[in-house]
Order: sequence, then C-alpha cells, then structure tokens
Amino acid sequence: MDQISTRQSLPAEPRDFGFYVDGARVPAAERAVFIRHSPAHDVPVTRIPKCTEGDLDMAVDAARRAFDDRRWSGLSGQARAAVLLKAGALIRARAEEIAYWETLENGKPIAQARGEVLGCADMYEYASGLARSLHGDSFNNLGDGMMGLVTREPVGVVGIITPWNFPFLILCERVPYILASGCTIVVKPSEMTSATSLILAQILTEAGLPDGCMNVVTGSGSTIGQAMAEHPRIDMLSFTGSTAVGRRVVEAAGRSNFKKLGLELGGKNPQVVFADADLEDAADGVAFGIAFNTGQCCVSGSRLIVERSVADRFAEMVRDKLAKAVTGDPLDEATQIGAITTEAQNRTILSYIEKGKEEGARLICGGGALDMGQGQYIAPTIFGDVTAEMVIARDEIFGPVLTILPFDTLDEAIAIANDTDYGLAASVWTKDIDKALVVTRRVQAGRFWVNCTLAGGPELPLGGFKQSGWGREAGKYGVEEYTQIKSVHIEIGKRRPWIA
Ligand code: NAD
Repeated sequence: MDQISTRQSLPAEPRDFGFYVDGARVPAAERAVFIRHSPAHDVPVTRIPKCTEGDLDMAVDAARRAFDDRRWSGLSGQARAAVLLKAGALIRARAEEIAYWETLENGKPIAQARGEVLGCADMYEYASGLARSLHGDSFNNLGDGMMGLVTREPVGVVGIITPWNFPFLILCERVPYILASGCTIVVKPSEMTSATSLILAQILTEAGLPDGCMNVVTGSGSTIGQAMAEHPRIDMLSFTGSTAVGRRVVEAAGRSNFKKLGLELGGKNPQVVFADADLEDAADGVAFGIAFNTGQCCVSGSRLIVERSVADRFAEMVRDKLAKAVTGDPLDEATQIGAITTEAQNRTILSYIEKGKEEGARLICGGGALDMGQGQYIAPTIFGDVTAEMVIARDEIFGPVLTILPFDTLDEAIAIANDTDYGLAASVWTKDIDKALVVTRRVQAGRFWVNCTLAGGPELPLGGFKQSGWGREAGKYGVEEYTQIKSVHIEIGKRRPWIA
C-alpha cells in the first residue's frame, strides 16, 4: 500500500517537552525519558521525562506553597475569572498547535482534535463566570441573637491523573473548575499523551496564573500516579481511568491521608433503540457513538439494545453507516476514524474481537485489524446474536466494537440496560416522550442522552453511577466538588451566660 498522504508534516525529530513546576519548564536533564511514537505513523514524536518521586515532591511543594500563602485562593473571583478568560483566548489562539500534538500522540483525527480544543477554550470561559458566582448560604432565621453562614472554601492542593483517550479534553473538564474554586494543581498525564498538558501549563502561566498553581509531572502510573495517590500533602485527587486502577487509588488514599477523591472510571454504555425511533437518526447516532475516537471513550455506546421487530434492519443500517465513515491518517482533514492509541489497547481490542467470535456471536462487519500501510487500525466491528452472559456484552472493550442485544418490552430494555456494574452514560432513541422519560428515569447512568449521544459542554456535569465513579466534574457541580463547606455561627449582642 502507498504511504498515507499527510497534510501537516511529521516532526523531523521528537520534541522535548520537559515537565512543569512552579511556573517554569524543567528539562529532562539526566532523567530517563519516554519516547512516544505516533500510533498512526510509527515515528517518534515526543520525548517525555520519567520524573522521580523527588520531582513529584518538588511539584507538590510548589502547589502547597501557592495554596497556603493564598496567592490564588485569596484573590477575588473577578481576578481569578480574568485569568481563566485569558486562558480561554490563548487556547483558541494556539488551537492548531495543541490539536497537532494531540493527534500525533493519540492518533485521533485532527479535525476532531481541533474541535475538542476549541470546546476546551469554552470551558475556561464558562468557568470564569463560576469563579465569580461561587457562593455559600446564610441563615437569618436563628433568632435575634444568632446568624448562620455556610461558606465554601477551596479543598487545597488537587492532584489530577488523566488517561490517554482525551488528554486535553479530560484535563480541561477539570482544571478551569478547580482553579475557579481557588485550589492549586499537580497533574500527571498518561505517559502516552503528556504533550498537551505541558502546553496548557505554559498557557496558564502566560494568562497570569501565579507560579506554583499549575504543575505537571510526567511519568508512569505505577510510580508517579501511585505516589500521588499516597501523597500526604495532596488534599484531593481527581482520577480518570480504569476501574481497576481506580480501586488501587481508593486503597492508597485510605492508607495515607484520606484525601478526598473524584473518580471517573469505565463504562459499558447502553444505546436503547425503540422501533418508533427515527431509525435514520438513530443509526447515525449509534455509529457515531461506537466509532468516535475509535470507541476509546468511557462513554462509548457499546451495547445496542434494540427492539426485536427492527433489530436486523437496524443492524444493517448501522453497518452501512460505518462502511461510509472515513478511516485513515489522522493528520488528514477528511479522516473520521483514526488509529488505536496504544499497542496494549490494540491487542486488547483484537483479543475481545476473537473472544466474540469464539463465544458464538455473529460477526456483522469488521472483525479485525485494518492494514493502512503504517500505524495500528481496527475496523469498526458489530456483533449480533449476543447474549447477556457473553464477555463481549459485559466487559468494557474500549474500542470500536458494538454488541447487539434485542428486547421485546420496555421493562426488558431497562433491565438489560441496567445489567452491568457500570453506570456512566446511556442513550434512548424513540419519538414517544413517555418511553423516553421512563427510560431516562430508570436507567442508572450519570449522563443521559435522548435522541442524541455523546453530547457535552461546560454547563452540564459529568460522572458515573455504580462502579463508574464518585463525584462530578464540570458545570457548577464541578466547582463545588473542589470546595469544602464550613458552617459559621455568629452571636449577635451579649452572650447569655452558661455560668451565672
Ligand atoms: P488506566 O487506568 O490504565 O490509566 C489512567 C491513568 O492512571 C494514567 O495516567 C496512568 O498512568 C495512571 N495510573 C496507572 N496505574 C496507576 C496507579 N497504580 N496509581 C495511580 N495512577 C495510575 O486507564 P487508561 O488505559 O489510560 O484509560 C482507559 C480507561 O480509562 C478506561 O477504563 C476508560 O473507561 C477510563 N476512562 C474513563 C473516563 C471517564 O470520564 N469516566 C474518561 C476516560 C477514560
């Protein structure tokens, strides 16, 4: 096969990003480095330091000083908002550069990456308003001698651990809200995709964020990630990743300082399609929900729960949609489906596809790797005749693999949708408002979509039910997560003595 055509050229040599502490880039110097290859082009693109636990201590100390001396939390909401607004503008101005590095490290289509980056700018702009409107409560009904206040205070130093599937987006669903609350931050991005977190740190400094308020330490999860979960001077940790590692983070927090935790974990998300839906719209949405970001989304709609009377016809409609999606070089503007991000994930997805075949599911399309001449690609895959016990119906595959489970009644559809340990997201497709509302009420999921899927934005919170996580990110709820509540009683006038 011919070399894939590229619009933007690949870097001549891998770029050194260093790491970021106390308002300045720190070069790798003598530290070991991790060389990241583009999963779409097989060439080295970035060199990232493998930070030591000493480096982490340095970053936590910087964040601790910045929090404790109130250089950020002591500012007015107006002053914090000004920094967040400037950051939004700088992200817009550097959107092309951020999207380029995101695509090179992650393998996602450049047009998609650009859209995500611009969406992130909007998060800073929205959160700037929240910095000004964050407030508590008051009780003026405690009698003439007493007034009560409920104030919100920032939690302190927040650690953020992110995965490789949406490196910039997931970070930006947290950072502006955390900064709006007045906290300071230490980030550990996935070792596969650190570049754009480091660009963000520079942008925040340029936007006027005081030194030490945003630090980025790079390295592996088992060393730096684990050390963050155990760190006694980190007050709260926002972890996004697999449920298995989430469990380890909970144990580590319990062993150390009982830090507050936010957890965004896995999903096995249902797409419930009724026969009365606009099937054309639903087929497009289901195809998008499983193939967007090559199915490497915590909220991918990976279980199609479809009314039996239309199941075969609908499966063909989704198959035909997927056949038209453009898979290819993610640097090409026309590409809709890019490469699989990591070698390990590529192996995992392919092994689940083989498992589906062994389990006796009916392969409707896809079924293996796609040879694009370079890089690692997998064809969007649909399995029919799937039963609830099959591994492919239960495990989060985190790839473009759709399993179809038919239903006959509304109650059955809801039971199948809830038959999972996860509860991250769900969609329902129907033109019957009653059915839509019943399903929305009864399916356990933190995010719900009616006649759409994967919709998002800065206003609405994110988070999961059941084993998909704890807490919420984004929106006003996202700012409040990073605050703790203090209740204040204020006596008015002369105290009624206890001792006469
Ligand atoms: P992962 O759990 O392997 O890694 C996530 C992050 O945790 C990485 O930065 C990694 O270096 C770090 N890590 C690894 N071991 C650690 C440890 N012992 N202590 C602390 N940190 C550690 O996940 P991944 O493979 O990067 O991402 C895929 C998973 O993430 C999927 O399960 C997916 O559902 C989940 N995810 C969830 C959301 C969400 O919002 N719910 C979003 C994206 C991804």
